[in-house]
Amino acid sequence: MKILVIGSGGREHALAWKLSQSADVRVYAAPGNPGMARCGECISASDGTPKALLAVAESVSADLTVVGPEAPLVAGVVDAFRAAGRAIVGPAAENARLEGSKIFAKDFFRRHTIPTAEFVSVETRADARKALDRFRFPVVIKADGLAAGKGVVIAEDRAQAEHAIEALGERLVIEEFLEGEEVSFIALCDGRDILPFAPTQDHKRVNDGDTGPNTGGMGAYCDSRILTEAQTERILNTIMRPAVEATGFTGFLYAGLIMTADGPKVLEFNVRLGDPETQPLMYRMSTDLAPVLAAAARGELGRHSFAWKRGASVCVVLASGGYPGSYRTGVSIHGIEDAEATGATIFHAGTRIGPGGLETTGGRVLGVTAAGQDLAGAIEKAYQAVHKIRFDGMHYRTDIGSKGLARYNIGVPGT
Ligand code: AMP
Repeated sequence: MKILVIGSGGREHALAWKLSQSADVRVYAAPGNPGMARCGECISASDGTPKALLAVAESVSADLTVVGPEAPLVAGVVDAFRAAGRAIVGPAAENARLEGSKIFAKDFFRRHTIPTAEFVSVETRADARKALDRFRFPVVIKADGLAAGKGVVIAEDRAQAEHAIEALGERLVIEEFLEGEEVSFIALCDGRDILPFAPTQDHKRVNDGDTGPNTGGMGAYCDSRILTEAQTERILNTIMRPAVEATGFTGFLYAGLIMTADGPKVLEFNVRLGDPETQPLMYRMSTDLAPVLAAAARGELGRHSFAWKRGASVCVVLASGGYPGSYRTGVSIHGIEDAEATGATIFHAGTRIGPGGLETTGGRVLGVTAAGQDLAGAIEKAYQAVHKIRFDGMHYRTDIGSKGLARYNIGVPGT
């Protein structure tokens, strides 16, 4: 089976790495990265439009295509492939809207009685100020469109809230602040059936202790203990099943949840796998992924399930100096072989081959991923490998997974 992975980040490298372990699978990547080149063949996707990506799939006679990032999904890549009769895993453009607009998503949750934070959506600043009267502080204020995590302000008092309203624009969602653990719940869907992945937890803030600005994600861990079976069932019944029934969703549906004292509530839906969550997920998955993805594309997920290795896995992101603000590129990277000699796997997120070898080309550069018998063991192995890698300006969080360790000592809140 020839499988084409669309994208060039750590999430896509992890997918390509996992798929390359399936028997009789040949992996292609468009455009891919130097890490993905070790799992298969990278092909330029020219301008990355659905038409260009379809041309790549046709040029290699791909039997199946898997989409990593949201941009091609929103642009209609799945619709284009289906119209041409090519198998693909991902949502139609119509369903990709669940990620593109916060107002659209909140209205969707309300229409289908999917539990979410109480909210008001507004179109003007005057309405936004009026809406503040209906909430206690802290209150959460969100810009409507895609804002890469920068469009959300948690305001502690009215002055901060009014400042956020000025800064974020006219179309806003104002919502209740939810207390509880954040969980990334991702499932593969075929329009009817839902196959959940193990739960993961992301670390969005740039600095230790969840401080500093939001990023694309500085690390994640995967451990089945993040959720009890009862919690997973409740998430499936109250959030995932109603959403898939209402939309016929195909592809990866990612619910960003808060496990409140009243049960799980959705902060947002993404219409693709999470990055970095995919790295620890692929690392811990024991199921042969290729046949499951092929079944998802055919609408035949029903007989399948995912199995997971015992223990836990952790991914620590190594970022460029200055990220999430501006950063240099073209910085030489050293020590990957030594890091892999410790038993870890290094997923490439923002790398390229320059005149002097491997160098940086993005804010998030590498995802150092390792597994262990338990979360503490996985954390230790991941950081052992991290310490072997160096590039000028490199920075990373030193506390990936530590929230999980703290939680297992005090029990899981929420029901
Ligand atoms: P979002 O882009 O909606 O996922 O929000 C970004 C981050 O802000 C989330 O990952 C949460 O940490 C935080 N956040 C967003 N909405 C809420 C809320 N209603 N209550 C508490 N924290 C929130």
